[in-house]
Amino acid sequence: QATRAYLDRIESLDGKLHAYHEVFAERAMERARDVDAGKLTGALAGVPVAIKDVLATQRGTTTCSSRMLEGFKAPYRATVVRKLEEAGAIILGKTNMDEFAMGSSCEHCAWGPVTNPWGENRVPGGSSGGAAAAMAADMCAGSIGSDTGGSIRQPASLCGVVGLKPTYGRVSRWGLVAFASSLDQLGPFSHTIADAALLLKVMAGHDPLDSTSANIAVPDDLDDVDIKPEKLRIGLAKQYMSDQNDPAMNEAIEKAKQVYQQLGAEIVEVDLPHTDYGIPVYYIVATAEASSNLARYDGVHYGHRTTQAEDLVDLYSRSRSEGFGDEVKRRIMLGTYALSSGYYDAYYLRALKVRRLIKQDFDSAFEKCDAILCPTTTGPAFKMGEKTDDPLSMYLNDVYTVPASLAGIPGVTLPGGFADAEGQRLPLGIQLLGPAYQEAKLLRIARCYE
Ligand code: GLN
Repeated sequence: QATRAYLDRIESLDGKLHAYHEVFAERAMERARDVDAGKLTGALAGVPVAIKDVLATQRGTTTCSSRMLEGFKAPYRATVVRKLEEAGAIILGKTNMDEFAMGSSCEHCAWGPVTNPWGENRVPGGSSGGAAAAMAADMCAGSIGSDTGGSIRQPASLCGVVGLKPTYGRVSRWGLVAFASSLDQLGPFSHTIADAALLLKVMAGHDPLDSTSANIAVPDDLDDVDIKPEKLRIGLAKQYMSDQNDPAMNEAIEKAKQVYQQLGAEIVEVDLPHTDYGIPVYYIVATAEASSNLARYDGVHYGHRTTQAEDLVDLYSRSRSEGFGDEVKRRIMLGTYALSSGYYDAYYLRALKVRRLIKQDFDSAFEKCDAILCPTTTGPAFKMGEKTDDPLSMYLNDVYTVPASLAGIPGVTLPGGFADAEGQRLPLGIQLLGPAYQEAKLLRIARCYE
C-alpha cells in the first residue's frame, strides 16, 4: 500500500515538479509484494526510497542528468544501492540533479529543471535537488543524494527537509559517479532525524571496493537518536552570522540557540577564521579534480559519441562539446587551468594548504564544543533563472556548506523556520556540524532540537 501510494503521488505531482528522471513502478510493486509475502526482510523492508541519478543502478539508466550519459546502463550497482536493497528498501526511481552534481539549483539538468514543491517559480537547490524535492513533496519515504560542497545540505534547507552529509569515508563511494573524489560523499534525505540515522546506518561502513572508505566501525546504536547528550556544548561562529544573511535565517539560529540553552547546553563562541577562503579553495580543488575525473568521457571509453568526426582528435572534441552542458565545460576549463604547469603551485597547491588551515579551524573549534550551530544557506530558495547568468553568485551560495566538505566532517541540515519571500512562505534549514565520525552524537544533538 505504501509503495502504491508513493507511486500514485509521483504520478500526480511529478509532471509539475520533475524530481524523477525514471520511475521503476513495476519493479517497485514486485518488491512490495515480496515484502508482504515475507520474502524480503531487513531494517528497511518495504520502505520506498528514491536514488539520485549519480549512483549506478542495474535497473534503468545512470545519466547524472547529462546528455553525455544518455541511455547509459551501468554494468554493476553502487555499494550503497546494494546495501539499501539488501536491507529490503524499495527503489522507486532515479532523481534529477545538476549535471554531474555541479550546481546549486537543479537548473543545469539536461532534461529540464526541477521545481521546488514550496513555490513553482523557486529552485529546489542542488545538486541533489530532485532527491530533496521528492522528499519534500512526499514522493518517497527517504532519498539518497551526494554532497561534494553542500549538495545534500543546501537543497534540504531550501526544501524544508532533513539532509545529512556523513564524514568523508563513512559511506562507500563505489558506484558513485565521481565529481571531486576527495570531497564526494553520499547521504540521506528524510523528514526526521531518526529516519536519517536509520538510512545512514544501512548505508555506512567499510568497503574494500573504495580505498577511501574508512575501516571504522559503525556504532550499533547509531539509529538510537533519543539518547540525550550530556554536558552539551554548542559552538557559534561569528563568521557564519553575517548581516548579509536573510534576517529570518539569523532568527532561526537565535531560536535554535535558545532551545539548546533551555535544554541546559552551554553556548560557546568559536572562531573559524579561514571561513572566507572556503569558496575559492573549494572551486579550485573541486574543479581540478573534476577536470581529471571527467577526462574519461571521450566518446570512446564512455559516453556520447559524435557521428560527425573527421579524425580522432575531432571525435574527442565534438563528442565532449555535444555531450557536456555549459556549467560542466566551465568547470573542466577552470580545473584544467588550475592544474596546468606554471599555475599548479600558485592555485592548486596553495588551495590544498588553505584547505588544511580550514580543517585546523574545525579541529580547534571542536576542542571547545560538541557541535557547531550555523546557517545552511544565507536565505531561502531563490527564483528560477535568478542566478543562471551569474556563475559567481551561484557559487557564493555554498559559502556555509563548503568548509565542512573541505574538512571532511559531518553536517546535518534540519528545518529551522520560514522566511517570507515576496509573499511566499519558504523553508529555511539550520546546520549542525560535528567532529569526524561522530555522526551518532551529532544526530542526537539534532534530535534535541527537532
Ligand atoms: N553547489 C556546489 C557545486 O556546484 C556543490 C555541489 C555538490 O555538492 N555536488 O559544486
